[in-house]
Amino acid sequence: MYEFAVTPAVTQLRRPGVIITEVTPESLGEELELRPADRIVRVNGRPVRDYLDFRFQTAGETELTFQVKKANGETLEIEFDRDEGEDLGLMFEQIVPRQCANECLFCFCKGNPDDARPSLFVRDEDIRLSFLYGNYTTLSSITEDEMKRVIEQRLSPQYVSVHATDLKTRAYLLGVAEERADISDKIRRLLDNDIEIHAQVVLCPGINDGAILEKTLRDLAADYPKVVSAAIVPVALTSYNNDERLTRVTPEFCRRTISEVEKLQKEFRKTLGVTFAFLGDEIYIKAGEPIPSRRHYGNYPQIEDGVGMVRSFINKFENLLKPSNKNLTSNKKSDVRTRVEAMTPDAPETDSASLEHILSGDLHGTVLTGEMFAPFLSEYVERFNEMYGTRLNVIGVKNTYFGGDVAVAGLLSGKDFLNVRDQLKGDFAMIPPGVIKSDEPILIDGMQFADLKAAFPIPIIAEDIIELLGSWLRQNHLK
Ligand code: SF4
Repeated sequence: MYEFAVTPAVTQLRRPGVIITEVTPESLGEELELRPADRIVRVNGRPVRDYLDFRFQTAGETELTFQVKKANGETLEIEFDRDEGEDLGLMFEQIVPRQCANECLFCFCKGNPDDARPSLFVRDEDIRLSFLYGNYTTLSSITEDEMKRVIEQRLSPQYVSVHATDLKTRAYLLGVAEERADISDKIRRLLDNDIEIHAQVVLCPGINDGAILEKTLRDLAADYPKVVSAAIVPVALTSYNNDERLTRVTPEFCRRTISEVEKLQKEFRKTLGVTFAFLGDEIYIKAGEPIPSRRHYGNYPQIEDGVGMVRSFINKFENLLKPSNKNLTSNKKSDVRTRVEAMTPDAPETDSASLEHILSGDLHGTVLTGEMFAPFLSEYVERFNEMYGTRLNVIGVKNTYFGGDVAVAGLLSGKDFLNVRDQLKGDFAMIPPGVIKSDEPILIDGMQFADLKAAFPIPIIAEDIIELLGSWLRQNHLK
Protein backbone atom coordinates (compact mmCIF):
# COMPACT_ATOMS: atom_id res chain seq x y z
CA MET A 1 0.00 0.00 0.00
CA TYR A 2 1.37 3.43 -0.89
CA GLU A 3 0.80 5.93 1.83
CA PHE A 4 1.11 9.66 1.94
CA ALA A 5 2.77 12.24 4.08
CA VAL A 6 -0.39 13.88 5.36
CA THR A 7 0.96 17.20 6.61
CA PRO A 8 2.24 18.39 3.21
CA ALA A 9 -1.20 17.68 1.77
CA VAL A 10 -2.47 20.53 3.92
CA THR A 11 0.43 22.97 4.02
CA GLN A 12 1.80 22.85 0.49
CA LEU A 13 -1.31 22.49 -1.58
CA ARG A 14 -1.03 25.63 -3.64
CA ARG A 15 2.68 26.25 -3.94
CA PRO A 16 3.99 26.11 -7.52
CA GLY A 17 7.04 24.04 -8.36
CA VAL A 18 8.56 20.97 -6.78
CA ILE A 19 10.63 21.06 -3.59
CA ILE A 20 14.03 19.41 -3.39
CA THR A 21 14.35 17.24 -0.29
CA GLU A 22 17.87 15.84 -0.81
CA VAL A 23 20.92 16.62 -2.91
CA THR A 24 23.45 13.83 -3.38
CA PRO A 25 26.96 14.87 -2.34
CA GLU A 26 29.29 15.58 -5.28
CA SER A 27 26.40 15.41 -7.75
CA LEU A 28 25.64 17.87 -10.52
CA GLY A 29 22.83 19.23 -8.33
CA GLU A 30 25.34 20.07 -5.60
CA GLU A 31 27.69 21.67 -8.12
CA LEU A 32 24.77 23.90 -9.21
CA GLU A 33 24.36 24.89 -5.54
CA LEU A 34 20.89 23.41 -5.34
CA ARG A 35 19.89 22.74 -1.75
CA PRO A 36 17.10 20.96 0.15
CA ALA A 37 14.04 23.26 0.45
CA ASP A 38 14.81 24.96 -2.89
CA ARG A 39 11.82 24.90 -5.20
CA ILE A 40 12.24 24.30 -8.95
CA VAL A 41 9.46 26.34 -10.51
CA ARG A 42 10.26 26.14 -14.24
CA VAL A 43 12.40 23.97 -16.49
CA ASN A 44 13.33 25.50 -19.85
CA GLY A 45 10.53 28.04 -19.38
CA ARG A 46 7.82 25.44 -18.74
CA PRO A 47 6.05 25.36 -15.38
CA VAL A 48 6.73 22.44 -13.07
CA ARG A 49 3.82 21.23 -10.95
CA ASP A 50 5.46 18.19 -9.37
CA TYR A 51 8.17 15.58 -9.68
CA LEU A 52 6.56 14.00 -12.73
CA ASP A 53 6.59 17.31 -14.63
CA PHE A 54 10.23 17.74 -13.65
CA ARG A 55 11.07 14.27 -14.89
CA PHE A 56 9.16 14.77 -18.13
CA GLN A 57 10.65 18.17 -18.87
CA THR A 58 14.24 17.21 -18.14
CA ALA A 59 14.17 13.81 -19.85
CA GLY A 60 16.69 13.63 -22.67
CA GLU A 61 17.60 17.34 -22.31
CA THR A 62 21.27 18.24 -22.10
CA GLU A 63 20.84 22.04 -22.15
CA LEU A 64 18.72 23.12 -19.21
CA THR A 65 17.53 26.28 -17.51
CA PHE A 66 15.97 25.99 -14.07
CA GLN A 67 14.03 28.76 -12.43
CA VAL A 68 14.60 28.15 -8.73
CA LYS A 69 12.94 29.76 -5.75
CA LYS A 70 15.47 29.55 -2.93
CA ALA A 71 14.42 28.96 0.66
CA ASN A 72 15.23 32.63 1.46
CA GLY A 73 12.69 33.81 -1.14
CA GLU A 74 15.26 34.77 -3.82
CA THR A 75 14.50 33.58 -7.38
CA LEU A 76 17.40 32.42 -9.59
CA GLU A 77 17.78 31.32 -13.19
CA ILE A 78 20.35 28.53 -13.47
CA GLU A 79 21.55 27.66 -16.96
CA PHE A 80 23.76 24.62 -17.47
CA ASP A 81 24.71 21.75 -19.74
CA ARG A 82 24.93 18.15 -18.71
CA ASP A 83 26.13 14.96 -20.35
CA GLU A 84 23.53 12.73 -21.88
CA GLY A 85 21.87 10.67 -19.13
CA GLU A 86 23.81 12.46 -16.36
CA ASP A 87 21.89 12.28 -13.10
CA LEU A 88 21.26 15.51 -11.24
CA GLY A 89 21.36 13.81 -7.83
CA LEU A 90 18.13 15.37 -6.60
CA MET A 91 15.36 13.90 -4.50
CA PHE A 92 11.95 15.54 -4.33
CA GLU A 93 8.96 15.88 -2.04
CA GLN A 94 6.12 13.38 -2.31
CA ILE A 95 3.29 14.10 -4.68
CA VAL A 96 0.26 15.52 -2.89
CA PRO A 97 -2.53 13.16 -3.90
CA ARG A 98 -5.73 14.34 -5.48
CA GLN A 99 -8.80 13.15 -3.58
CA CYS A 100 -11.63 11.06 -4.97
CA ALA A 101 -15.21 12.24 -5.27
CA ASN A 102 -16.80 8.82 -4.83
CA GLU A 103 -18.64 7.13 -2.01
CA CYS A 104 -17.78 3.50 -2.73
CA LEU A 105 -19.79 0.97 -0.76
CA PHE A 106 -16.63 -0.86 0.24
CA CYS A 107 -14.26 2.10 0.65
CA PHE A 108 -11.35 1.05 2.85
CA CYS A 109 -11.58 4.37 4.72
CA LYS A 110 -14.92 3.27 6.19
CA GLY A 111 -13.25 0.12 7.47
CA ASN A 112 -10.50 1.88 9.46
CA PRO A 113 -10.56 2.09 13.23
CA ASP A 114 -10.75 5.73 14.35
CA ASP A 115 -7.18 5.74 15.63
CA ALA A 116 -5.58 4.39 12.43
CA ARG A 117 -2.72 6.46 10.99
CA PRO A 118 -4.09 9.63 9.33
CA SER A 119 -2.54 8.59 6.02
CA LEU A 120 -4.93 5.62 5.87
CA PHE A 121 -7.85 8.02 5.55
CA VAL A 122 -6.48 9.67 2.41
CA ARG A 123 -8.88 8.87 -0.42
CA ASP A 124 -6.49 9.24 -3.28
CA GLU A 125 -7.63 9.21 -6.88
CA ASP A 126 -4.59 10.32 -8.76
CA ILE A 127 -3.43 9.33 -12.22
CA ARG A 128 0.16 10.26 -11.30
CA LEU A 129 0.24 7.82 -8.40
CA SER A 130 -1.44 5.23 -10.58
CA PHE A 131 1.44 5.51 -13.03
CA LEU A 132 4.17 5.72 -10.38
CA TYR A 133 2.97 3.21 -7.80
CA GLY A 134 0.09 1.30 -9.36
CA ASN A 135 -2.61 2.92 -7.19
CA TYR A 136 -6.03 2.34 -8.71
CA THR A 137 -8.23 5.22 -9.81
CA THR A 138 -11.84 5.03 -10.91
CA LEU A 139 -11.34 7.71 -13.64
CA SER A 140 -14.80 8.96 -12.71
CA SER A 141 -13.61 12.46 -11.89
CA ILE A 142 -10.49 12.74 -14.06
CA THR A 143 -10.28 16.27 -15.51
CA GLU A 144 -9.52 17.20 -19.09
CA ASP A 145 -6.11 18.52 -17.98
CA GLU A 146 -5.28 15.23 -16.30
CA MET A 147 -6.44 13.28 -19.31
CA LYS A 148 -4.19 15.37 -21.59
CA ARG A 149 -1.31 14.94 -19.16
CA VAL A 150 -1.60 11.15 -19.15
CA ILE A 151 -1.48 11.16 -22.92
CA GLU A 152 1.20 13.84 -23.40
CA GLN A 153 3.54 12.54 -20.69
CA ARG A 154 2.86 8.89 -21.54
CA LEU A 155 1.79 8.02 -17.99
CA SER A 156 1.25 4.42 -19.00
CA PRO A 157 0.13 2.00 -17.67
CA GLN A 158 -2.80 3.26 -15.67
CA TYR A 159 -4.46 1.08 -13.02
CA VAL A 160 -8.21 1.46 -13.17
CA SER A 161 -10.86 0.26 -10.73
CA VAL A 162 -13.54 -0.74 -13.18
CA HIS A 163 -15.57 -2.98 -10.82
CA ALA A 164 -18.28 -3.50 -13.49
CA THR A 165 -18.85 -2.43 -17.06
CA ASP A 166 -22.59 -2.58 -16.43
CA LEU A 167 -23.23 1.11 -15.80
CA LYS A 168 -25.98 0.78 -13.19
CA THR A 169 -23.86 -1.63 -11.16
CA ARG A 170 -20.77 0.57 -11.39
CA ALA A 171 -22.68 3.69 -10.33
CA TYR A 172 -24.20 1.76 -7.41
CA LEU A 173 -20.81 0.50 -6.23
CA LEU A 174 -19.15 3.90 -6.55
CA GLY A 175 -22.09 5.71 -4.95
CA VAL A 176 -22.24 8.28 -7.77
CA ALA A 177 -24.65 9.19 -10.60
CA GLU A 178 -24.50 7.06 -13.74
CA GLU A 179 -23.28 10.01 -15.75
CA ARG A 180 -20.20 10.27 -13.56
CA ALA A 181 -19.72 6.53 -13.33
CA ASP A 182 -19.65 6.17 -17.12
CA ILE A 183 -15.98 6.07 -18.12
CA SER A 184 -16.38 4.28 -21.44
CA ASP A 185 -15.32 7.33 -23.50
CA LYS A 186 -12.38 8.05 -21.22
CA ILE A 187 -11.12 4.50 -21.43
CA ARG A 188 -11.53 4.54 -25.20
CA ARG A 189 -9.56 7.77 -25.45
CA LEU A 190 -6.73 6.41 -23.33
CA LEU A 191 -6.57 3.19 -25.31
CA ASP A 192 -6.73 5.03 -28.64
CA ASN A 193 -3.70 7.00 -27.47
CA ASP A 194 -1.82 3.80 -26.59
CA ILE A 195 -2.09 4.16 -22.83
CA GLU A 196 -2.19 0.68 -21.37
CA ILE A 197 -4.68 -0.20 -18.65
CA HIS A 198 -4.63 -2.80 -15.89
CA ALA A 199 -8.19 -3.18 -14.62
CA GLN A 200 -9.40 -4.13 -11.17
CA VAL A 201 -12.71 -5.55 -9.99
CA VAL A 202 -13.44 -5.52 -6.27
CA LEU A 203 -15.84 -8.42 -6.14
CA CYS A 204 -18.91 -7.92 -3.97
CA PRO A 205 -21.17 -10.98 -3.66
CA GLY A 206 -24.63 -10.42 -5.09
CA ILE A 207 -23.64 -7.11 -6.72
CA ASN A 208 -20.98 -7.46 -9.43
CA ASP A 209 -20.44 -11.25 -9.54
CA GLY A 210 -21.98 -13.91 -11.82
CA ALA A 211 -23.28 -12.59 -15.16
CA ILE A 212 -22.16 -9.01 -14.39
CA LEU A 213 -18.60 -10.20 -13.77
CA GLU A 214 -18.63 -12.26 -16.95
CA LYS A 215 -19.77 -9.22 -18.97
CA THR A 216 -17.10 -7.05 -17.32
CA LEU A 217 -14.31 -9.49 -18.12
CA ARG A 218 -15.47 -10.05 -21.67
CA ASP A 219 -15.80 -6.29 -22.30
CA LEU A 220 -12.29 -5.70 -20.95
CA ALA A 221 -10.77 -8.63 -22.81
CA ALA A 222 -12.16 -7.23 -26.06
CA ASP A 223 -9.53 -4.49 -25.71
CA TYR A 224 -6.60 -6.80 -25.00
CA PRO A 225 -3.63 -6.14 -25.34
CA LYS A 226 -4.22 -2.44 -24.57
CA VAL A 227 -6.20 -3.55 -21.56
CA VAL A 228 -3.37 -5.74 -20.36
CA SER A 229 -4.96 -7.59 -17.47
CA ALA A 230 -7.89 -7.70 -15.08
CA ALA A 231 -7.57 -8.53 -11.38
CA ILE A 232 -10.57 -9.74 -9.41
CA VAL A 233 -10.10 -9.30 -5.68
CA PRO A 234 -12.69 -10.06 -3.00
CA VAL A 235 -14.18 -7.28 -0.93
CA ALA A 236 -12.60 -7.37 2.53
CA LEU A 237 -14.84 -6.20 5.32
CA THR A 238 -13.37 -5.17 8.62
CA SER A 239 -15.45 -5.12 11.77
CA TYR A 240 -15.98 -1.39 11.23
CA ASN A 241 -17.61 -1.60 7.81
CA ASN A 242 -21.18 -2.62 8.53
CA ASP A 243 -22.92 -1.47 5.37
CA GLU A 244 -25.95 -3.75 5.03
CA ARG A 245 -25.69 -3.75 1.25
CA LEU A 246 -22.45 -5.71 1.45
CA THR A 247 -22.23 -9.46 2.00
CA ARG A 248 -19.17 -11.26 3.31
CA VAL A 249 -17.20 -13.48 0.94
CA THR A 250 -17.68 -17.15 1.88
CA PRO A 251 -15.72 -20.28 0.84
CA GLU A 252 -18.76 -21.41 -1.19
CA PHE A 253 -18.86 -18.06 -3.02
CA CYS A 254 -15.13 -18.38 -3.78
CA ARG A 255 -15.53 -21.90 -5.18
CA ARG A 256 -18.38 -20.77 -7.43
CA THR A 257 -16.41 -17.76 -8.62
CA ILE A 258 -13.34 -19.88 -9.40
CA SER A 259 -15.38 -22.30 -11.45
CA GLU A 260 -17.08 -19.47 -13.38
CA VAL A 261 -13.88 -17.52 -14.03
CA GLU A 262 -11.86 -20.62 -14.93
CA LYS A 263 -14.10 -21.13 -17.96
CA LEU A 264 -13.35 -17.60 -19.11
CA GLN A 265 -9.62 -17.98 -18.39
CA LYS A 266 -9.52 -21.07 -20.62
CA GLU A 267 -11.31 -19.18 -23.35
CA PHE A 268 -8.95 -16.19 -23.05
CA ARG A 269 -5.88 -18.42 -23.15
CA LYS A 270 -7.19 -19.89 -26.37
CA THR A 271 -8.20 -16.62 -28.02
CA LEU A 272 -5.71 -14.13 -26.53
CA GLY A 273 -2.86 -16.45 -25.58
CA VAL A 274 -2.87 -15.24 -21.94
CA THR A 275 -4.98 -15.83 -18.82
CA PHE A 276 -5.91 -12.12 -18.84
CA ALA A 277 -8.36 -12.26 -15.88
CA PHE A 278 -6.72 -13.20 -12.58
CA LEU A 279 -8.40 -14.05 -9.31
CA GLY A 280 -6.85 -12.75 -6.11
CA ASP A 281 -4.93 -15.29 -4.00
CA GLU A 282 -7.42 -14.88 -1.19
CA ILE A 283 -10.17 -16.40 -3.33
CA TYR A 284 -8.23 -19.66 -3.82
CA ILE A 285 -7.20 -19.77 -0.17
CA LYS A 286 -10.73 -19.19 1.12
CA ALA A 287 -12.10 -21.75 -1.32
CA GLY A 288 -9.50 -24.30 -0.17
CA GLU A 289 -8.44 -24.79 -3.78
CA PRO A 290 -4.89 -25.04 -5.15
CA ILE A 291 -3.00 -21.91 -6.13
CA PRO A 292 -2.59 -21.86 -9.95
CA SER A 293 0.74 -22.60 -11.58
CA ARG A 294 3.52 -20.16 -12.45
CA ARG A 295 2.45 -20.19 -16.11
CA HIS A 296 -1.06 -19.08 -15.18
CA TYR A 297 0.26 -15.71 -13.97
CA GLY A 298 2.55 -14.82 -16.90
CA ASN A 299 4.72 -11.94 -15.68
CA TYR A 300 2.51 -11.37 -12.61
CA PRO A 301 0.93 -8.17 -13.94
CA GLN A 302 -1.00 -7.35 -10.74
CA ILE A 303 1.05 -9.01 -8.03
CA GLU A 304 0.88 -5.95 -5.77
CA ASP A 305 -2.89 -6.37 -5.69
CA GLY A 306 -2.49 -9.80 -4.07
CA VAL A 307 -2.71 -11.67 -7.36
CA GLY A 308 -0.01 -14.31 -7.66
CA MET A 309 1.89 -13.36 -4.49
CA VAL A 310 1.49 -16.83 -3.03
CA ARG A 311 2.63 -18.55 -6.24
CA SER A 312 5.61 -16.23 -6.48
CA PHE A 313 6.48 -16.97 -2.83
CA ILE A 314 6.17 -20.75 -3.32
CA ASN A 315 8.42 -20.67 -6.37
CA LYS A 316 11.07 -18.57 -4.64
CA PHE A 317 10.97 -20.84 -1.61
CA GLU A 318 11.22 -23.97 -3.77
CA ASN A 319 14.40 -22.42 -5.17
CA LEU A 320 15.81 -22.04 -1.67
CA LEU A 321 15.11 -25.69 -1.00
CA LYS A 322 17.26 -26.83 -3.93
CA PRO A 323 20.58 -27.72 -2.29
CA SER A 324 22.67 -26.95 -5.35
CA ASN A 325 20.86 -23.73 -6.05
CA LYS A 326 22.93 -21.22 -7.95
CA ASN A 327 20.20 -18.59 -8.02
CA LEU A 328 20.82 -17.24 -4.58
CA THR A 329 22.70 -14.24 -5.82
CA SER A 330 22.27 -11.29 -3.56
CA ASN A 331 19.40 -8.92 -4.35
CA LYS A 332 18.55 -10.81 -7.50
CA LYS A 333 15.95 -8.89 -9.51
CA SER A 334 13.02 -10.95 -10.70
CA ASP A 335 10.95 -10.28 -13.78
CA VAL A 336 8.02 -9.51 -11.55
CA ARG A 337 6.75 -5.98 -11.76
CA THR A 338 7.10 -4.50 -8.34
CA ARG A 339 5.78 -1.09 -7.58
CA VAL A 340 7.35 -1.21 -4.17
CA GLU A 341 10.74 -0.75 -5.78
CA ALA A 342 9.48 2.38 -7.48
CA MET A 343 8.64 3.79 -4.06
CA THR A 344 12.25 3.51 -2.89
CA PRO A 345 11.23 2.99 0.70
CA ASP A 346 13.89 3.14 3.34
CA ALA A 347 14.68 -0.22 4.82
CA PRO A 348 12.65 -0.81 7.96
CA GLU A 349 14.45 -0.07 11.16
CA THR A 350 16.06 -3.45 11.53
CA ASP A 351 19.00 -3.18 13.81
CA SER A 352 21.96 -4.38 11.74
CA ALA A 353 23.72 -5.82 14.82
CA SER A 354 20.65 -8.02 15.52
CA LEU A 355 20.56 -9.11 11.91
CA GLU A 356 24.27 -9.98 11.86
CA HIS A 357 23.84 -11.94 15.05
CA ILE A 358 20.85 -13.87 13.67
CA LEU A 359 22.58 -14.65 10.38
CA SER A 360 25.61 -16.05 12.16
CA GLY A 361 23.49 -18.32 14.39
CA ASP A 362 21.44 -21.48 13.86
CA LEU A 363 18.17 -19.68 13.06
CA HIS A 364 16.14 -20.47 16.13
CA GLY A 365 13.27 -18.00 16.12
CA THR A 366 9.63 -17.18 15.40
CA VAL A 367 8.22 -15.85 12.15
CA LEU A 368 5.04 -13.81 12.55
CA THR A 369 2.66 -13.47 9.62
CA GLY A 370 -1.04 -13.08 8.81
CA GLU A 371 -3.47 -15.93 9.42
CA MET A 372 -4.17 -16.33 5.73
CA PHE A 373 -0.58 -16.91 4.72
CA ALA A 374 0.56 -18.84 7.81
CA PRO A 375 -0.30 -22.38 6.56
CA PHE A 376 1.81 -21.87 3.38
CA LEU A 377 4.68 -20.38 5.29
CA SER A 378 4.61 -23.14 7.93
CA GLU A 379 4.75 -25.87 5.33
CA TYR A 380 7.83 -24.40 3.64
CA VAL A 381 9.56 -23.35 6.83
CA GLU A 382 9.19 -26.91 8.18
CA ARG A 383 10.84 -28.26 5.05
CA PHE A 384 13.64 -25.73 5.44
CA ASN A 385 14.08 -26.76 9.10
CA GLU A 386 14.31 -30.43 8.13
CA MET A 387 16.83 -29.71 5.43
CA TYR A 388 19.13 -27.32 7.30
CA GLY A 389 18.53 -28.14 10.96
CA THR A 390 17.14 -24.70 11.71
CA ARG A 391 14.42 -24.22 14.34
CA LEU A 392 12.04 -21.68 12.89
CA ASN A 393 8.49 -21.57 14.09
CA VAL A 394 5.58 -19.77 12.37
CA ILE A 395 2.67 -18.03 14.08
CA GLY A 396 -0.39 -16.86 12.14
CA VAL A 397 -1.27 -13.65 14.00
CA LYS A 398 -4.95 -12.79 14.31
CA ASN A 399 -5.85 -9.31 13.16
CA THR A 400 -7.82 -7.92 16.07
CA TYR A 401 -7.18 -4.34 15.02
CA PHE A 402 -9.31 -4.37 11.86
CA GLY A 403 -11.20 -7.58 12.69
CA GLY A 404 -13.72 -8.97 10.21
CA ASP A 405 -12.25 -10.79 7.21
CA VAL A 406 -8.84 -9.15 7.42
CA ALA A 407 -6.19 -11.87 7.59
CA VAL A 408 -3.37 -10.54 5.39
CA ALA A 409 0.07 -9.95 6.87
CA GLY A 410 0.43 -6.36 5.64
CA LEU A 411 -2.42 -5.05 7.85
CA LEU A 412 -1.20 -6.45 11.17
CA SER A 413 -0.87 -3.84 13.89
CA GLY A 414 1.52 -3.40 16.79
CA LYS A 415 -1.19 -4.53 19.21
CA ASP A 416 -1.76 -7.72 17.21
CA PHE A 417 1.94 -8.60 17.54
CA LEU A 418 1.85 -7.84 21.25
CA ASN A 419 -1.03 -10.30 21.63
CA VAL A 420 1.26 -13.23 20.68
CA ARG A 421 4.39 -12.22 22.54
CA ASP A 422 4.00 -15.03 25.12
CA GLN A 423 3.96 -17.64 22.31
CA LEU A 424 7.36 -16.72 20.89
CA LYS A 425 10.06 -19.36 20.69
CA GLY A 426 13.78 -19.00 20.10
CA ASP A 427 16.20 -16.08 20.08
CA PHE A 428 14.44 -13.66 17.77
CA ALA A 429 11.10 -12.79 16.18
CA MET A 430 10.57 -11.65 12.64
CA ILE A 431 7.71 -9.55 11.27
CA PRO A 432 6.98 -8.77 7.59
CA PRO A 433 8.67 -5.51 6.49
CA GLY A 434 5.41 -4.34 4.86
CA VAL A 435 3.78 -3.75 8.27
CA ILE A 436 6.06 -0.76 8.82
CA LYS A 437 5.36 2.50 7.00
CA SER A 438 7.80 2.98 4.15
CA ASP A 439 9.04 6.40 5.24
CA GLU A 440 8.63 6.21 9.00
CA PRO A 441 9.22 3.43 11.58
CA ILE A 442 5.61 3.12 12.75
CA LEU A 443 2.98 0.40 12.46
CA ILE A 444 -0.56 0.73 11.18
CA ASP A 445 -2.04 1.55 14.61
CA GLY A 446 0.51 4.30 15.12
CA MET A 447 2.73 2.23 17.44
CA GLN A 448 6.41 3.08 17.02
CA PHE A 449 8.51 0.12 15.92
CA ALA A 450 10.93 1.03 18.74
CA ASP A 451 8.10 0.66 21.29
CA LEU A 452 7.16 -2.74 19.90
CA LYS A 453 10.80 -3.82 20.15
CA ALA A 454 10.98 -2.61 23.73
CA ALA A 455 7.84 -4.57 24.65
CA PHE A 456 9.09 -7.84 23.14
CA PRO A 457 11.08 -10.31 25.25
CA ILE A 458 13.44 -11.11 22.32
CA PRO A 459 14.84 -8.96 19.47
CA ILE A 460 12.47 -8.33 16.55
CA ILE A 461 13.54 -7.79 12.99
CA ALA A 462 11.37 -6.66 10.06
CA GLU A 463 12.68 -8.68 7.12
CA ASP A 464 11.48 -10.59 4.10
CA ILE A 465 11.73 -14.29 4.97
CA ILE A 466 13.07 -15.32 1.57
CA GLU A 467 15.76 -12.63 1.73
CA LEU A 468 16.70 -13.64 5.24
CA LEU A 469 16.91 -17.36 4.48
CA GLY A 470 18.82 -16.65 1.26
CA SER A 471 21.36 -14.54 3.17
CA TRP A 472 21.68 -17.18 5.88
CA LEU A 473 22.29 -19.90 3.28
CA ARG A 474 24.89 -17.81 1.47
CA GLN A 475 26.66 -17.12 4.75
CA ASN A 476 26.52 -20.62 6.20
CA HIS A 477 26.10 -23.20 3.42
CA LEU A 478 27.11 -21.82 0.07
CA LYS A 479 30.58 -20.46 0.71
S1 SF4 B 1 -12.45 5.53 -5.10
FE1 SF4 B 1 -13.88 4.55 -3.68
S2 SF4 B 1 -12.61 3.08 -2.56
FE2 SF4 B 1 -11.22 4.54 -3.53
S3 SF4 B 1 -10.90 6.11 -2.00
FE3 SF4 B 1 -12.60 6.79 -3.26
S4 SF4 B 1 -14.43 6.10 -2.20
FE4 SF4 B 1 -12.72 4.98 -1.35
